Amino acid sequence: MKMADAWNGAALAALVLAATTLAGPGALAQAPPAADAPKPAKPFVAPEVATTDAMRQAAIAGVDARAKMAQEMVDQVFSYAEPGFQEFRTSEFLTGVLEKNGFKIERGVAGIPTAWTATWGTGGPLIALGSDIDNLLGLSQYPGVPNIKPMVDGAPGHGEGHNSGMPMMIVAALAAKDVMEKNKIPGRIMLWPGVAEELLATKAFYVRAGLFKDVDATIFSHVSRDFSTSWGPGGNNGMVSVEYTFRGKTAHAAGQPWEGRSALDGVELMDMAWNFRREHLPLTQRSHYVITNGGGQPNIVPGVATVWYYFREQNFQSIRELYQLGNKLSEAAAMATDTTVERRVLGYAAPNYSNKPLAETAYANIKRIGMPQWSDDDRAFAKAVQETNKLKAEPLATEVSPLTAPGDRNTFGGGSDDIGDIMWTVPTITVRYPSNIPGAIGHNVTSAMAMATPIAHKGVVVGAKAVALTVLDLMTTPKVLADAKDYFQNTQLKTQKYDPVLGPDDKPAIWLNADVMARLRPKMEPYYYNPKKYKTYLEQLGITYPTTTPK
Ligand SMILES: [Zn+2]
Repeated sequence: MKMADAWNGAALAALVLAATTLAGPGALAQAPPAADAPKPAKPFVAPEVATTDAMRQAAIAGVDARAKMAQEMVDQVFSYAEPGFQEFRTSEFLTGVLEKNGFKIERGVAGIPTAWTATWGTGGPLIALGSDIDNLLGLSQYPGVPNIKPMVDGAPGHGEGHNSGMPMMIVAALAAKDVMEKNKIPGRIMLWPGVAEELLATKAFYVRAGLFKDVDATIFSHVSRDFSTSWGPGGNNGMVSVEYTFRGKTAHAAGQPWEGRSALDGVELMDMAWNFRREHLPLTQRSHYVITNGGGQPNIVPGVATVWYYFREQNFQSIRELYQLGNKLSEAAAMATDTTVERRVLGYAAPNYSNKPLAETAYANIKRIGMPQWSDDDRAFAKAVQETNKLKAEPLATEVSPLTAPGDRNTFGGGSDDIGDIMWTVPTITVRYPSNIPGAIGHNVTSAMAMATPIAHKGVVVGAKAVALTVLDLMTTPKVLADAKDYFQNTQLKTQKYDPVLGPDDKPAIWLNADVMARLRPKMEPYYYNPKKYKTYLEQLGITYPTTTPK
C-alpha cells in the first residue's frame, strides 16, 4: 500500500488548478473539477450487531492486557528487518507466538517458503485477518532518532511500518478468541501474512492456490497516521510486475564489435520506446523500470541484459492492455537489435475494492475506540522528525478520520496493493491504524523512525481493539456477513470480474532478495531485539525517548 495516494490526488488537483490559471479564463471554463474537492459530511449510521457491551469490554481488556506483548512483537519484527520472500525470522517468530496460543499452523503455503496460515476455532464463519510483514531494501534506520541514521549500511529497513501489522492482528485475534471461548461463540479465525507486498508478489498466488476458498470475510490492516477504513473502489492502481531478459551475442567490444549483438541495446531501445509512448497513454497509468542486469564490463558486448517493469493501471482490462503494450515494445526492440527477448511475470496486484457493509461495521468500532492518548513525549518526537527532515508540520491526529466512500477520493491512480486480489475473491476491507507520524514520506527512512516507539505501540493497541470488536460482530451477527456477501456479489462484481494477468505457469518469485540477505544478514543479526534482556528495543539500542535532536 502506498500512503502517497492521497498526496498524489492533491498534487494533481493543484497542478490542474495551476495549469488552468496560467492558461487564462477561457481554459478555466473547461477545466475538470478538482477530484478531491471536499464533500459535505454524510451522517454515519452504525449497522446493528449482536455483540454485547460485556463482550466488547472483555475484548478491549484482552487487548490492554496484551499491550506489552504487542510492543515486544512490534519491536522484534522491526529488528528482523526482512525484505520480500526473506521473512524467515519474522515468520518463524510470529507463527511461534500463534502456535503457543492454540493456532494450527500451515507453513509454506502457495509454494512460498515464508508464507503460512494460522487457524483456530470450530464451526461458524471463517474470518481471515491479514497484514504485510516485509520491508524495503536500503532503508535501514535506527528507531527513535529524528535524523537519517542507518543501523547497517545498505541493509533493508521498515520504512513503511510493516513491522506493526501482524503483531496488531495477533493481539486482536487473541482478544477475540478469549471472548468467543468464554461465550461459546462458534467461529474460526485464520491469520495470514502479506509476504513480499513491496514486490506485489504473493496475494494473487494465495488466491490461485485457494487459500481463501472457504473464507467468509477478510479484514486486512495497514499502518497509517490516521485511524480509518473505507469502501468501494480504492482509487489506486492494479499492477503487473514483469522482467524482460534480452539475449544477444558477446564479442570484443573494440576488436570485433560487428560480431556482437548487444542485449543491453535491446533493453535501452525498449526503455526509449516506452518513454516516447508514455506521452500517449492515459493519465491514470504509472509505469517505471530498473535495469537489473546491464552487462558485465564495457569491453564485452553484453550477451544478456534484463529490465524490470511495473505497469500500473486502474482496471483489469487496462492493466492487461498496458502489459501487452510493454510486451509489444520489448519484441520490437529485440527485432531492431537482432536479439531475443523473454519475459517473466514476477507479481500482480488487482485494483482495490473494499466492502461497504464490512467497512461500516469496522468503522463503528473505530469510532467506539477512538485515537490513542498521545503524550507530550510522542508529540515532541513527531515534531522533531518533521522538523529535522523538513516534512510538513502536522500534529499527531487526535480524531478518527471520516468513513470515506468512492466519490470522496481521487481517481488519478497511483500506487498498488496486492490485497486487491483478495478483495476480488471474498468481501474484504483494510483497517488503517495510527502508528506512524503525519508527513513522513512513504518508502523512506522517515517512515521508519517512529515504528519501534510508543507512537507505533499505541497505534497498534487501538487498531487491535477495533479489529477484535469487528471480528466479534462478524461472529455474532450473520446479517453483517450476509450483507457483505450481497454487496460483493451484486454491487462489486457487477462492475468487473477478477481477471489477473497471472498464467498457470507463473511462479512466485521466491528467489528475490536472497542474495541481498545472504550478504547482509550476518551484519544485521547483532541488532536483533532481545526482549528477555531489554524492556524495549529502544532500551537495547541505548536510545532515550523522546530523542529530539540529531544523534
Ligand atoms: Zn504497505
